[in-house]
Amino acid sequence: MLNERYAAQSHWILLTAPDQAVPNALVIDDWDAWKTALDNVDAETAEFIIQLRLEDLSTPAPEPVAKVTCSACSHEHPPHDVVKAPCEHDYCAACLENLYRACMTDESLFPPRCCRQPFPWELVRDLLSQELQSAFVAKRVELETQDRTYCHVATCSAFIPPDDNVADSAPCPKCQRSTCIKCKRESHTGVCGEDDETEEFLATARQNGWPRCFGCRRVVELNTGCNHMTCLCGAQFCYLCAATWKTCPCAQWDEERLLERAAAHVNNAGAGGHQAPNHAAQVARAAEHLRENHECEHRRWTRRATGSLRCEECRCYQQRFVDECDRCHLRACYRCRTNRL
Ligand SMILES: [Zn+2]
Ligand SMILES: [Zn+2]
Ligand SMILES: [Zn+2]
Ligand SMILES: [Zn+2]
Ligand SMILES: [Zn+2]
Ligand SMILES: [Zn+2]
Ligand SMILES: [Zn+2]
Ligand SMILES: [Zn+2]
Repeated sequence: MLNERYAAQSHWILLTAPDQAVPNALVIDDWDAWKTALDNVDAETAEFIIQLRLEDLSTPAPEPVAKVTCSACSHEHPPHDVVKAPCEHDYCAACLENLYRACMTDESLFPPRCCRQPFPWELVRDLLSQELQSAFVAKRVELETQDRTYCHVATCSAFIPPDDNVADSAPCPKCQRSTCIKCKRESHTGVCGEDDETEEFLATARQNGWPRCFGCRRVVELNTGCNHMTCLCGAQFCYLCAATWKTCPCAQWDEERLLERAAAHVNNAGAGGHQAPNHAAQVARAAEHLRENHECEHRRWTRRATGSLRCEECRCYQQRFVDECDRCHLRACYRCRTNRL
């Protein structure tokens, strides 16, 4: 009779308890011992033994684990697949992988961070693939180096870690040729003069008022906003004279650029365009607002649904939404807001 109710497979036995519609999986380690035991008792006792065995096995069901919603992609993930950034935003493995991959080619995303707080490497490492871990660790040395030297051999162009430098000469780890760390051309003896091309480029930069970052010597261009520049390398300096921020007597914002940005805001708000009679007054008000908030840290944002609004940071048009800073009204896409600004 019992045989009709269970099917033995190896050391597993499936049976249906009287009050349960779903079969329970019951582990019988010693099948022969069990079979003998059940064969030697009457049906009622056998049923009883099976019940006991079932109760024995019915350990309390584990609490269902709450899934965590990733702040970046808004999908739900099991907790072990998500890390909490220092800013309390949750990132799933896929979004982290995406960010870490992107920051190796787009330096505005380096160091990988959310809400201005870098991800601790120990926290995220295990969620990244082995391949990405090693690629990132290698690339990090380069990205953290200020005033980098790349191999002057055009077909090589490998990054030369500064630790390898011998005086002003940087030996390429790939092709073994040496590059001058000052002029970035082939290593030479005698006085080092900066590259003509570099000179020309720097002259243009000076003419256009693009300053060079004191930290990494990158040339930085800025179209709108205040004179407080934060370079990709993290250095903060004055847009006008390139001195460390707040160490110079320059104005903290540029009137022309400020008005340009104020006008953009007014036009974004769709207040009737340049034709509107109060346009000038609106721009003036917006400019005043920007002046008061030019060092805004963008702490609170409001989401704006968009047909096509532009992120002021990466200048990409956003199809779904942009976030607007409650204080300075800067509009940014989610990636810029969390991982760039
Ligand atoms: Zn995600
Ligand atoms: Zn965050
Ligand atoms: Zn080389
Ligand atoms: Zn040189
Ligand atoms: Zn810099
Ligand atoms: Zn200055
Ligand atoms: Zn703001
Ligand atoms: Zn953006």
